[in-house]
Amino acid sequence: MATAITERRYWLPIANPKERYGGTRHAFDGRRWDGDKSAISICGKKAKMRKATEIEWFSFPTCTS
Ligand SMILES: [Zn+2]
Repeated sequence: MATAITERRYWLPIANPKERYGGTRHAFDGRRWDGDKSAISICGKKAKMRKATEIEWFSFPTCTS
């Protein structure tokens, strides 16, 4: 992930049952998730953070906002 070095942001799939695919991969400030239970994404969404499953990484669409 070469982009992470220059942009200093990381991505994490955030589950949300109201969303069509069950969640979205959002970008967050920082180099990596530090274990906080919630954080504000780059697009301004307050997200509940938890370790994502492989299926979530695979199936959740990337946030485009
Ligand atoms: Zn987002």
